[in-house]
Parts: sequence; structure tokens; C-alpha cells
Amino acid sequence: MQPGPTLRLILGDQLNPQHGWYRESRPDVVYLLLELRQETDYVVHHAQKVIAIFAAMRDFARQLKAAGHRVRHVAIDDASNRQSLSANLDALIAHYGASVFEWQQPDEWRLDAQLNEWAARQTIACRAVDSEHFYTARGEVAELFADRKQWLLEHCYRMLRRRHGVLLDPDGKPEGGQWNFDADNRKSWPGDPPEPADCRPRHDHSALWRQIQAAGVVTMGQPQAADFRWSLNRAEALQQLDDFIDSGLPHFGDYQDALSGKSWRLFHSLLSFALNTKMIGPREVVQRAEQAWREGRAPLAATEGFIRQILGWREYVRGVYWTRMPGYVESNALGHQRPLPRWFWSGDTGMACLSAAIGQSLQQAYAHHIQRLMVIGNFALLAGLDPQPLHRWYLGIYIDAFEWVEAPNTLGMSQFADGGQLATKPYVSSAAYLDRMGDHCKGCRYDRKARTGARACPFNALYWDFFERQAERLRGNHRLAMVYRNLDKMTPEARQALREQAAATLARIETL
Ligand code: FAD
Repeated sequence: MQPGPTLRLILGDQLNPQHGWYRESRPDVVYLLLELRQETDYVVHHAQKVIAIFAAMRDFARQLKAAGHRVRHVAIDDASNRQSLSANLDALIAHYGASVFEWQQPDEWRLDAQLNEWAARQTIACRAVDSEHFYTARGEVAELFADRKQWLLEHCYRMLRRRHGVLLDPDGKPEGGQWNFDADNRKSWPGDPPEPADCRPRHDHSALWRQIQAAGVVTMGQPQAADFRWSLNRAEALQQLDDFIDSGLPHFGDYQDALSGKSWRLFHSLLSFALNTKMIGPREVVQRAEQAWREGRAPLAATEGFIRQILGWREYVRGVYWTRMPGYVESNALGHQRPLPRWFWSGDTGMACLSAAIGQSLQQAYAHHIQRLMVIGNFALLAGLDPQPLHRWYLGIYIDAFEWVEAPNTLGMSQFADGGQLATKPYVSSAAYLDRMGDHCKGCRYDRKARTGARACPFNALYWDFFERQAERLRGNHRLAMVYRNLDKMTPEARQALREQAAATLARIETL
């Protein structure tokens, strides 16, 4: 008797047409792409995220078929869809009489555990292969830090630059004589140079959106289905990468930390969805950026700053995730318990910076790094919002949110909920920083300079109150010495007034 076919599972974030699997088309292999309620329902996702992943999976299935591969695509409303991964796999193994099952290693703990447990129950051969995407293997970053108390990004980043020969001179030294040009990358944006044109493709996914709604999937945010702007396959993503290298990268460094009410993406690349679904790989993005610098098309500080995000931060947070899971997502070192205010789902707050960042997130399924970290995350940490619902909010709302990258950024970098494993100090600020880096304060109902009184910007009293509340834990941190010196210089009356202002602010958090 002929052995049954091999079934190969492709998850929604594994849309890499260059994976070794596809080098030859084998009639004995069937590729499986499954649209699952299990995946739409583990948190409430942004409508654009659900549309983007399903549309990209459908596009990928079409490409594979056109290249001569056998494909079984199960749509969200397919009558045969059992909506859970394990139940669908059971049914498909039986249907095809499969003799082998293969999958690419998932990036999320949840799916990794589910597939391993499911495979352990099977009688046919089951094996996982590498997803062939990252620079580092899952456990590699942990090995690098084996004997170190503190896991510093910089250490990981330099090692990867050396190992992969990125931005090195012929002697193996960093180009420009230094590893990091961060100090050059901190300008606010005056409105000029103009932001790059949005050259992303346009799609009409109204029919898919109707199908998602009819299936009962609950979402948040604007679907923008009739004029859908995310790249949904490799060709579109490569075009987007080229456009970014031409018009975004030259100014990326200067305005990397800027905030502006006049531009929702500034000079950021908008490539995280294409990268995280593996349509494009980190190596080719890094290589194209480096090549642009070598050809004189982008300054070194901008190129280094951009490469550090991908070769550095992206690999590093993944290493943290795989080392600290499964417990990491429950982290709450500061014991914060406050529920998220309702305006996280509407953007309806008088604080102009938060209204813009949250409103834009609901509109675009996107906020750039400084909005995520220094506006939304900053407020959440100062106000003592519960990090678990906050983690689920970040995991749902952003087009690029997958737990391996979202959780270390939210719980570690932004909320200090891991007790400082990832961030050397809490990323918080008062209104002065937000005013320096952006233009929201000018049109805001709150006074950026006032610490107390009805019009005082909430960030101010909350900032001092946070450091006072957390003094026992944070006073010894040498990076916070200045903060505590300033706090100590305040009169008891001034401190009491700030405490009262913070309490009153938190008491009316829903109407801020
Ligand atoms: P650019 O600014 O153009 O940067 C280029 C690329 O570098 C990005 O596409 C991304 O792949 C990578 N990168 C940049 N910063 C980081 C970082 N801190 N960690 C990992 N990779 C990085 N990024 C995600 O991809 N998914 C998330 O769910 C996510 N959640 C976040 C939550 C919080 C609270 C914070 C503070 C950051 C989060 N980030 C996340 C990191 C970062 O904000 C996004 O990668 C970035 O905003 C994506 O936009 P872009 O493609 O325009 O990035």
C-alpha cells in the first residue's frame, strides 16, 4: 500500500515563500492553511489585524497553488472548519490518511505547547522544522547571557553585528568608530522635511470583512476594509521596503524619537507586519539599509539606528521571551491593579497626546514606538494600570502584535513588570519630555507646566507620585539618582500637594 501524504502546517505568521519547504513541489505533500476562531479569539484583535492575516494567508495559498504545490486552505466559515487547531489537524490527518505531519517552529509559546502536546499523542511521524527567519536560534540569546546578571541589549547587539559582519570596517571595527549613534537620534520634528508619501498598496477586502463578521469574530478598531493599506505578500512588502529606504531611512535617525500631531508615522518604516509574518526577512532588510548607507543614500546614524531595532531589539526581545516563558506574561513586579480606563477603546480623553496615540491605534492598527512607549505605556505605568489587561490590549490592537515581541516590550520595556530584567530603569516622563519631543501639548486642555490644580497635566503629579510610591524598590538604582535628589529637595508641603493631585487625578481617570 502507498504511504499517505505528508501534511505541512503553515501558521498565519509563517508566510515566507522562500522557506526551504517550497524549493521543490512534491505531489506527496499537502500544505495546510487554517483560519481559526482559536486564533481570532485568544484576545480581542483589531479588525485590520484579522483581515490582514486572513487576506495574506489566502494570497499565500494562491501563490503556492500557482507554483504547483498541493494546498488545503480552510476558510473561517468553511463547513468543515472545527475552529481549533488540534481538532482540525485530527480531522485532516484522518481525511488524507497522512503518514507524516510537519510544522515550522511557532514563535508563540501558546502554539508551540499546543502543537507539541498534540504531536505527542499521534501515531504517525511528527516533526518540527526551523522557520528559517531569525538571526538567532530560540535559546541563543540566553546562552549569550549565561553568566551575566543583567541582560543588556547592547551586549547582544554588538555580538550579532560582529558575527554577521554588519556595519563593520575592514578591520572588524564598527563603522564610524562607534557602535551606537543614539545620541544623534533625538530630535523633535518641526514639520520639515516632509513626511514620506504613503506608498503602500491599496486593497478592497470588504467581502472578507463581511465573512469575518458573519462568522461572529469580535474585533476592535476601524477595519478600513474598502481601502486596506497593509502589504499582504512578499512582492508588496519588498516594494514598501524600497520606498522606505529611499524616502524614510535618510531621516529615520533624526526623528526616531519624535512625536507629532501632524504625522502618524513620521519616518518609521511600517514594516513590522511584513517582518513578523515573515513575508520578508530581517537579513534582507538589514542588508538593504546597510547598502543604502554604503552608496551614500542614508546617513550612518540613521542606518545604524534602524539596523539596531531589527538586528538588536527584535532578536533580543525574542531571546528574553523564550527564556522567561511560560511565567513571563504573568509578571507584575510593581503589583499594579488599576483597570484600564474605558477611553483605551475610544481614544476619548482630553490629554491630547494620548487621544492622538490611542485614536490613531484604533484607526490604523499602528502606533510608532515612541507613542507605544512614552505616551500610552508611560501613562499606564505612572497610573499603575494592571499590566495583564494592558498586555492583552497591546497584543490585540497592533497589526504587528505577536506575543514573542509584544510581551517583552509591554511587560518588560514599558511596564517594568518583570522587575527590571529588560529595562535598566522605568521608561517614564513628566510632560516636559512629551513637550520637548512633540507638538501635542500646545493644543491640549491641560497645562504642561502646572503640577497641581485643575488644568495641570496629569503626567506631572503622576510622575512624582510614581517615584515616591516606588522609592523602596527604585531609590537604589543609580540611573534614577537625579530623580530622587529632586524629590528629596521638595518641601513636605510640595510633596503632599503632588500626592493629593495624583490621588484626585486617578479618582477621575475615566474623565481625564
Ligand atoms: P520602525 O520604527 O520602522 O523599526 C523597524 C523595525 O524594527 C520594526 O518593524 C520592528 O521589526 C523592529 N523593532 C523596532 N523596535 C523594536 C522593539 N522594541 N522590539 C522588537 N522589534 C523592534 N513590535 C512588534 O513588532 N510587535 C509588537 O507587538 C510590539 N509591541 C510593542 C509594545 C510596546 C509597549 C512597545 C513599547 C513596543 C512594541 N513593539 C512591538 C516595538 C515597536 O514599537 C514596533 O516594532 C514598531 O513600532 C513597529 O513599527 P515600524 O515597523 O514602523 O518600526
